[in-house]
Amino acid sequence: MQIYRVDSVLSSQGWLRDASITVSDRGEVLALSPQTAAAAHTQHIAGIVVPGMPNAHSHAFQRAMAGANEVRSERRESFWTWRASMYALANSVGPEDLELIATQLFIEMLKAGYTSVAEFHYLHRAPDGTAYPGCNALWRSLDAAAGIAGIGLTLLPALYLSSDFGARPLRREQARFRLSVEEFLQALSLRRRELAQGGDARLHTGAAFHSLRAVPLESLREAAAGLREIDPGGVIHIHVAEQLREVSACVRSCGRRPVELLLDTGLIGPQWCLVHATHANPAELAGIAASGASVCLCPSTEGNLGDGWFDAARLLDAGGTLCIGSDSQASVCPAEELRWLEYAQRLKRRRRAVLGSAAEPHVGARLWRAAAQCGARALGQPVGAIEVGRRADWLVLDPAHPTLAGASEERVLDHLIFAGARAAIRDVMVGGRWVVRGGMHEAEEAIAARFGDWMLRRAPRIN
Ligand code: ZN
Repeated sequence: MQIYRVDSVLSSQGWLRDASITVSDRGEVLALSPQTAAAAHTQHIAGIVVPGMPNAHSHAFQRAMAGANEVRSERRESFWTWRASMYALANSVGPEDLELIATQLFIEMLKAGYTSVAEFHYLHRAPDGTAYPGCNALWRSLDAAAGIAGIGLTLLPALYLSSDFGARPLRREQARFRLSVEEFLQALSLRRRELAQGGDARLHTGAAFHSLRAVPLESLREAAAGLREIDPGGVIHIHVAEQLREVSACVRSCGRRPVELLLDTGLIGPQWCLVHATHANPAELAGIAASGASVCLCPSTEGNLGDGWFDAARLLDAGGTLCIGSDSQASVCPAEELRWLEYAQRLKRRRRAVLGSAAEPHVGARLWRAAAQCGARALGQPVGAIEVGRRADWLVLDPAHPTLAGASEERVLDHLIFAGARAAIRDVMVGGRWVVRGGMHEAEEAIAARFGDWMLRRAPRIN
């Protein structure tokens, strides 16, 4: 057990000054009180403590191509041309490569303020399509990377059965993604049993359906029923309505739009996370809000890929909930995702401070708090707020940093998101353990050297 005396903390009851926080040996907050504890073993945190941000959507291997596809050519560059490059990378990554890339990425996430991550993972087989012995080498690479970095992980193995609507067979470059519904459910059961024995409270399991084009509706229903038996409250994520081409293909094939189709299954509820939902129309946004499902937005990736504009204000007004993800890793910074979430609304509506509310007028504070709590639900982890019973995942901001100069407590997150991004994040704790101190992670130099070497050797063949 450890008691911390903190100068200032954003708890779920609001800002507390000179508070004491008791953290168990398992990394859980046991007590939080406004009085300073006088115990001799109290550790003083000189700074501003805010909840760490869950990253609700990540494809770790794509870190190895961030920044590599920003070139205009004679063809019309789009999500689909980017995807061809992404498949080339996906088909060149083995378990050791994935562990190294993910470790580098997870360290970057921690330094930027993400303290947990949902890894939406669809690489299941060896590059030639054969199964790895045991189940599953690539999943374990992500567990290992999370362990080295010290980040909380919810692994979301994704079902991926078809290349397009109409149950079209997978293409050769998608062979690694395939697990039958039976293999998928068996592998998930096995992983849950293994994790229950392993006892690392930072590792969790959910599940994902890649998209409606990759999972025919019948298979989705069958797999969802199987998932309910394995873990009735388990989180389920799905990419939906990210690209207009996907929306029109869905209408052509099924007579309905993707979000409409998904809502009509009757399956969607609070444990579901709809990733992107970019082209959801007003009726669909109201339907998502009514279902209790969360929406994960990845504004830097959606901007990078030219996906389109999402009406975040309408979803929030309807009572919906939003979280954020780093997705393609074009940016690995929660403050940047939230800034662009707000800026996209401003550019479209030609107004400022769109996503503030009457109850929470400070845009930064509202977005950080809401995305952290919604992200925790999307990850199925007890994180996202500093309160008794949740894991001690938090960031310590340096009040002396120029980014925060003159900022009152209620403006701290406005400054972080709209002015300084990550510059003022000094220390990061996950599960009661310091993983970043003074802006540094203990493994960052060694991992960055190995990652740099790997990129030099491998990147020319990928890009
Ligand atoms: Zn994605």
